[in-house]
Amino acid sequence: MKFPEEGWSRDRVLEVLASYKSDDVSLEGGHVFAYGFHPDAEIESTTRHAYMEMLSRNAIDPTSFPSLLRIENDVVRLVAELLQGDEDVVGNVTSGGTESILLAVKTARDKARAERPEITEPAMVLPQTAHCAFHKAASYFQVKPIISAFDPQSFRTDVVSMRRSITHETIMLVASAPSYAHGVIDPIQEMGKLALEKNLWLHIDACVGGIPLSILRRSGKAVPSFDFSVPGVTSISTDMHKYGYSPKGASVVLYRNKQYRRYQIFSSMASTTYALINPTMQSTRSGGPMTGAWAALLHIGESGYRRIIQETMEATRRIIAAVQETGVLRILGKPDLSLLAIASEEINIFELADEMSERGWYLQPQFSTDKSPANLHLTVTYRNAATVEPFLADLRASVEKLSREPGVDLNIVREQVRLLVDGKSEEEAFALLAELGGLGNGGLPKRMAMINSILDALPRSLGEKMLADFANDLYV
Ligand SMILES: *Cc1c(COP(=O)(O)O)cnc(C)c1O
Repeated sequence: MKFPEEGWSRDRVLEVLASYKSDDVSLEGGHVFAYGFHPDAEIESTTRHAYMEMLSRNAIDPTSFPSLLRIENDVVRLVAELLQGDEDVVGNVTSGGTESILLAVKTARDKARAERPEITEPAMVLPQTAHCAFHKAASYFQVKPIISAFDPQSFRTDVVSMRRSITHETIMLVASAPSYAHGVIDPIQEMGKLALEKNLWLHIDACVGGIPLSILRRSGKAVPSFDFSVPGVTSISTDMHKYGYSPKGASVVLYRNKQYRRYQIFSSMASTTYALINPTMQSTRSGGPMTGAWAALLHIGESGYRRIIQETMEATRRIIAAVQETGVLRILGKPDLSLLAIASEEINIFELADEMSERGWYLQPQFSTDKSPANLHLTVTYRNAATVEPFLADLRASVEKLSREPGVDLNIVREQVRLLVDGKSEEEAFALLAELGGLGNGGLPKRMAMINSILDALPRSLGEKMLADFANDLYV
């Protein structure tokens, strides 16, 4: 790509864009079980229209753009109502789940710095099932992650292990409602009690579950308590761009009251530029995403969300039943929402992802840990609900094919990887592994089973390095 002397025509820009898009997985057809959340065309058109309407307005300055202040406050009040927050609950709209989580961790750390200055190395106790965004926050803000165990059957946080992990340096506990990986809600009542007893911050990661769980609860379904109704809960993250079905770039971080949120806000008059007051990480902040979220909440409304989540839950039940009927695949834990993880003792699950990919479906590989097997993740959405039967037909066909032709054997790869890595320098090991995985000159092979099996077999720190090197080569 070279910088053009003459700008491209509008037609050319859009044409080239369309040609770029043609290589992407198709989100709209309901064939992707991750990444994308699409409501029906009418809702999508309304939220996108609202988004575009405010795209160029800048929430950096609420005095110049009071419309965006109103919109952000509306979104926060609506989501706080869903999460059973009282009038004291406050929050902000952020760019996504990761930013909401980064902010919650930073805010807890800064509060601890002010109120518990004797702590020099703050730590948070993190279930192993919590999202990697907490590890990112730990790395960005120098908060030590102490990993607590989960029950290998239910995939719920083991509160005894969590209690044992608390030290005098601990500032924060984390719970998921539900976890992305397995769709399981942590025992949040018990964790709230623990947080109160030890006087610790408790963050609930309801990024994926906040909206649909609240809607299910309000429709009379038995949903384990996870929100501000639980004593001890300090902050909650809830994404609008997931099951809130708003356009991407919108999440909400909520705090029990202003005294907590105060530590989130950054202000500075240290420079010759304008005085800076930033409640979130961004400074210039497009009005588009928050307006898309606002439009989604108000346009879809309670009955709309209820219909969407009920159809999605019905589709999830059908998928779970069909997976169990194969006798070859199983579901990890017992999902509390429409997210699930499929594992198998008999076939290489990464081969299943490839087989499904050849049939046009995207399932997301998740790697094994010392306590849980490699698996494929599905986030079932409204769009997927419409294509459950063809999906299940292809799933059965793929399982049958792999029972006849198993492909890459995880155990053999594990042994090969062990031999390859043993006694080699990191560079040597990576070169050999890349060759084994069929990684050519920068490109990816069509079937990913070998690479995924290698990544799964690698010691974690080596795997993380390899992924970072891969990204470093991928981007120019
Ligand atoms: C998606 C998700 C995140 C991260 O959110 P992004 O919007 O991708 O930054 C964090 N936690 C959970 C439980 C999630 O599902």
